[in-house]
Amino acid sequence: MMNFNNVLVLAPHTDDGELGLGGTIHSLIQQGKEVTYVAFSTAEESVPVGFPKDILKTEVKKATLKLGIKPENLIIYNYQVRKLNYVRQEILEELIRIRKTKAYDLVFIPSLHDIHQDHTTIAQEGVRAFKNTTILGYELIWNNMTFNTQCFFRLSKEDIDAKVLALKEYESQGKRDYLSEEFIYSLAKARGVQVGAPFAEAFEVVRLFL
Ligand SMILES: [Zn+2]
Repeated sequence: MMNFNNVLVLAPHTDDGELGLGGTIHSLIQQGKEVTYVAFSTAEESVPVGFPKDILKTEVKKATLKLGIKPENLIIYNYQVRKLNYVRQEILEELIRIRKTKAYDLVFIPSLHDIHQDHTTIAQEGVRAFKNTTILGYELIWNNMTFNTQCFFRLSKEDIDAKVLALKEYESQGKRDYLSEEFIYSLAKARGVQVGAPFAEAFEVVRLFL
């Protein structure tokens, strides 16, 4: 695809990365790119009764593996859900520490138009930490007030199949609308139709180095 080789995905919660760009992650890895995934909260406080408190940690390991992410490229933090803004500075310092570990050339963050408080925090601190890197914002339509489809990754059916399989690992999340197969294929199809591709995922351009 392009000259980006070392990709970093910032996910406020486990599953945000798979939902926003699961197909793109799969495609990048198929093309031999290195993808690192960072999840900031495993939302232990909101795990449904009957599941172990660390279920989302187990699920994100399985889901990211389905997309092809190597276990050593998965970083999981245990910050409290809905309280990421309480530890904004600590998160910024962690991001700067992560930045120094590899020469990342493409970073994915939630859209800067995402209204979830944790997503806002990760998007803003991501922009602060990665001043010299290309940054794209991913789409989570149920949290977006608006979304500018400025950048597209063309995807194959296999990429979206892998996204669906990855998201099936989140059994603890039950039957949410946005986890349904129908929704995942429909949105990817709609984004594909915008650009004449079978499927696609769309991104906002936050910063672009060519
Ligand atoms: Zn989230």
